[in-house]
Formats: sequence, structure tokens, C-alpha cells
Amino acid sequence: MRTETSKRLHRAAARLIPGGVNSPARAWSAVGGNPLFIARGYGSHITDVDGNDYIDYVCSWGPLILGHAHPAVLEAAARAMETGTSFGAPTEYENRAASLIVDGIESVAMTRFVNSGTEATMSAMRLARAATGRDMVLKFDGGYHGHDDALLVRAGSGVASQGIADSAGINSKLASDTLIAPYNDVDAVESLFAEYGRKIACVIVEPVAGNMGVVPANSEFIATLRASTSAAGALLIFDEVISGFRVAYGGAQSLYKAKPDITVLGKIIGGGFPVGAYGGSAELMSHVAPLGEMYQAGTLSGNPVAMAAGSATLELLRDSNAHADLDEKTRRLAEGMEAVFREAEVSACVNSACGMLTVFFADSPVRNMADALSSNHIAFSRFFHAMLNQGVYLPPSPFEAWFVSLAHSDEDIELTIAAARDASSSLDA
Ligand code: PLP
Repeated sequence: MRTETSKRLHRAAARLIPGGVNSPARAWSAVGGNPLFIARGYGSHITDVDGNDYIDYVCSWGPLILGHAHPAVLEAAARAMETGTSFGAPTEYENRAASLIVDGIESVAMTRFVNSGTEATMSAMRLARAATGRDMVLKFDGGYHGHDDALLVRAGSGVASQGIADSAGINSKLASDTLIAPYNDVDAVESLFAEYGRKIACVIVEPVAGNMGVVPANSEFIATLRASTSAAGALLIFDEVISGFRVAYGGAQSLYKAKPDITVLGKIIGGGFPVGAYGGSAELMSHVAPLGEMYQAGTLSGNPVAMAAGSATLELLRDSNAHADLDEKTRRLAEGMEAVFREAEVSACVNSACGMLTVFFADSPVRNMADALSSNHIAFSRFFHAMLNQGVYLPPSPFEAWFVSLAHSDEDIELTIAAARDASSSLDA
């Protein structure tokens, strides 16, 4: 496979942009080699600048649940652009997108749009602090909630792939208000609440973790979070930036039948354009300016093009049998992977939820970040490159979710399983 043009462009980019990338997850630090520059994508496939074609399981890290360049999304965005790209004043596009979210996510009666998941989690946390008058936040080891100072502590995939525990430049006073517990660990949550309960403003959790690789929460863990926060007068924030409208139309909260106080969304709701949102009850959202005392604003927030593309995506998901179909595709891929590794006698644990999965080269179940870290990363790097050579583009880190879209065909899944069979022969995990 020739990748000379990607290499040349990466050399040029590295002189202009740190590491040649605008987000570290794109840098291939965990697997080695040269990131590919992508020329185009259509459906489940992408083509790099040297003309190589791949089945894509990154899908822009989650937004593209319909696949690349879906005609309904392109048309919605193009139509919106014809009438102007941004006004800094309200548009009908925002009403349509907000009502899709309010109708789709049961715990959300009112929502505010922002421009990224990071902005949304940061604002959700500020809202929790405003509403409770407390400062402390409890998050989980390996949970990534964007790069806000208070949340960039033991933050999973991107940071773990870089081999740095935390970031430099974090305001240590803010970070010291962040408590950490292992994911899926009920006892740890209960003992932190016993010690700090009345100081905790909120717990923030990915109800299906995607940033230590895919690790679904167990029901008891979610129930404990709900009970502990309610008892202590703290708020429960579900970060559904990945899981919202993916693991089910109603998000992970509909699967766990749990009602968070604040829900954070992103990715899918922008249809491939920059977006984030946070929402909750009307009473809680009345703290947000201009209704209340918590200030939060944005020049491009609720951008009409992003709103139009996101609404087209959500309407298509809502009005079709999308999630049953996506679940079936994901299940087939996960089971195919498990069979391949069983036959090849390679130790592997395949974790999945609708539309997302991760293969961990581990010989026991992966339930938290410590388990993920103890998986075999060298085996993953070999596997990643062996798959790439056969035209399958996986996330370049052992701690990331592979994203399955509705555009992935039966043939794509069969080809991926066949490629894994071949790749597994090069592993001695
Ligand atoms: N929350 C979760 C669960 C995420 O996976 C991400 C990004 O991957 C974020 C928040 C931050 O979103 P963004 O990258 O749009 O800032």
C-alpha cells in the first residue's frame, strides 16, 4: 500500500500544526506509523489521498451514524447554507433541533446548544455548581468528558494513548476539586459519598463508556450513582456525547431506565458539523442566562447548518428501524470477531453496545480502565496495521470505540471479519 502523499502532507502539517494534527487522537501515537490524510468518504468507506480505499470504523469518532456524505444530511446542510451560514440571532433551525432532543431524551425538557462536547460538559458542570452551590465533581478513571481543566484528570483514551497521566497546564486548584473512582465500582462511590457527600456538586459519567474502549456500566453501578447523588443533594450528569442517539434513540438512559439531572450531548446531534448540547428539567435550566445567574454563551452556538444536518440525522433515525438494524450489524461484527479469536486461540475480550465495540487483547473481562490498561497493546498495534493493510481503518488506539454506522453493509462486516482472521494469524497474544 503506497501512502507517500499522506507522508508528505503530514511532514508539511507537522511544520504548521503541533504533531501535524488538530486533535491528538489522530496522531497514531499508540500504534506507530504515519496518520493517513483522507480525501473523501462515502457511506462506510473512506479514501485516502493516495487513492487507497478503507472500510471506516472511526466514522469521525461517532457523529456519522448514517455513514459519510449521507444524501439527506448533505441536502439539509446545503439548503441551510443557501440562506446564509450564521446570524447570531435565533433561527427556526434551533427550534426544530431542540424539539427533537426534548422529544427523544426523556430527562431533557429544555436544552442549550453549544459548539462541542467539551463546551457542553464544561457548561453542565458549571450548571451543577450553580444549582448546588458546591464545588466538587466526581468522575471515573478512564472517563473522558472533553478537555476542561476540572475533567482532564485520569481521562482515558486520548491521554492514555499519549502516555501522559494528566495534562500540563491544568489549574491545580480546579483539578483538586475532582474526585476519581474506578468505573463500575459501587463500593468506591459509596465511600466517597460517605466522606465528601455534602461537598459534591455532581457526578459525571459516560453511562456506556467509550473512552477506555467500550465498557458498558452495570445496572447496579448506575442505580448507585442515582441513589447516592439524590441522597446527598448532588446532581447526576450523564455524558451521552457518544451514547446519545447511538446505543438507543433515547440514549443510554433509556436502556438503563435511569433519569439523570443533566444530559450532555454532541457528535450525532450535529450530523458531522461542530455541536454540543446540555439539558435537563425546565427548573434546572432556568439557572442558565438569560433566565438565571449561570452565564454561558457562544457566537456560533445553534449554528443553522449544524442544526439542519443534525435534525436531518435525528429524523432519519427516529423514522426508520435504525437502531434494530444498527444493533444487529454490531452484534454480527462482535460475534464474528469473538469467533475469529477463539479459533486462532488469541486471548481477546470484545465489548460492545449498539453501534460501538472494542476488541481488547485481554484474557479476562474488561470492566474498567485498569482492566483496559492491562490488555496487550503491542498485539493491538500489530492488529491495527494488519487490518489497515487489508483495507480496514480502525481507531488508532487500544482504548477507543470502533464506530459502526448504518451504512456498513453485510459485505463490509464479512470483509472485516475475514481481515481479522488473517490479521489474527500474525498475533501471538
Ligand atoms: N464527552 C465524551 C464522552 C466524548 O467522547 C467526547 C469526545 O470524544 C467529549 C465529551 C468531548 O467532545 P468534543 O470532542 O466535541 O469536545
